[in-house]
Amino acid sequence: AAALALTGCSSERGGTDGGDATEAAGFAADATIGVALPDKTSENWVLAGGLFEDGLKAAGFTPDVQYAPASNTVAEQQNQISAMVTNGAKVIVIGAKDGKQLGTQLQQAADAGVTIIAYDRLIENTPNVDFYVAFDNFKVGQLQGEALLQGLEQRSGHAAPWNIELFSGSPDDANSAVFFNGAMDVLQPKIDDGTLVVVSGQTDIQQTATQGWKAENAQSRMDSLLAANYGDKNIDGVLSPNDTLARAIITSAKQAGKDIATITVTGQDSEVESVKSIMAGEQFSTINKDTTLLVEQTIRMIQQLQAGEEVDVNDTEQYDNGVKVVPAYLLAPVIVTKENAAEAYANNPNLLEIVNAAQ
Ligand code: BGC
Repeated sequence: AAALALTGCSSERGGTDGGDATEAAGFAADATIGVALPDKTSENWVLAGGLFEDGLKAAGFTPDVQYAPASNTVAEQQNQISAMVTNGAKVIVIGAKDGKQLGTQLQQAADAGVTIIAYDRLIENTPNVDFYVAFDNFKVGQLQGEALLQGLEQRSGHAAPWNIELFSGSPDDANSAVFFNGAMDVLQPKIDDGTLVVVSGQTDIQQTATQGWKAENAQSRMDSLLAANYGDKNIDGVLSPNDTLARAIITSAKQAGKDIATITVTGQDSEVESVKSIMAGEQFSTINKDTTLLVEQTIRMIQQLQAGEEVDVNDTEQYDNGVKVVPAYLLAPVIVTKENAAEAYANNPNLLEIVNAAQ
């Protein structure tokens, strides 16, 4: 598609009036494209940086890929975005560290005519987000809720009611609430009818939050939950919003002497260590959100913008950022357990090798 768009462009340029072609294209074919990613809390983010660097170059653009460092990330990301605008980026792709704190920088971008694509995480409370590209986050949460129910049936060794605890992600990430709401869409009716018992009583998003998506925060909350509520009780399952937190929760449960083979812990991201854990019968599930596909879709959007074409979106309803509904292109997440791992990772040689080695 890229080649076609570019060919179209140069053949027009060969015509009588070069000026028209330049106007038809959104911007130069070798334009600078900024990519501002948050800290490296999950493997996904690390992978995305490399894929953007290579993919944008291969498409003829000049990439400027930056990560916010581990400390003072919000201010640093704000500075990086401002610098990208000043340096003439035509599009800036942003995986926000704190999606509510980029209003000033995005106004600056809008004033300079820069197109903003929110990547994976929605950017809130600003009119200056042009597109959103992500896996369907609500669906991710629903799949996690369904996996939890499935695992409880398979592993707990007893019928309902099942004792569970709930974890959600970092409050500064717009995705956290969407994942949690998706999961609760499945789990709340089961809590209401007594199938599931949240022994701690902690069921709202403030109580379940994990600041900064940090493993140590999930681990210490799990330590406290177990100490306070499960001295003489079994815990059957834990809703974990991602793999990093799932492994921290599993570590905590093991240290408390719990039998992890009977406990269902969900996850997300298909991180290497979690895929190993799933194959070893510890973590129950993860979600495959293939970063390669998400980066490819983002680059496709940039190519469409460059060619002055209409940008493909497939959702214009779900992602209200508080000021407007951001047109989105959503990809479908895939649930992964030990049972379907080989199939789910058929196109991922690295993960497939782990799956095959364990079988
Ligand atoms: C991403 C997840 C990731 C989390 C922590 C979220 O915004 O969607 O895939 O696990 O951030 O990095």
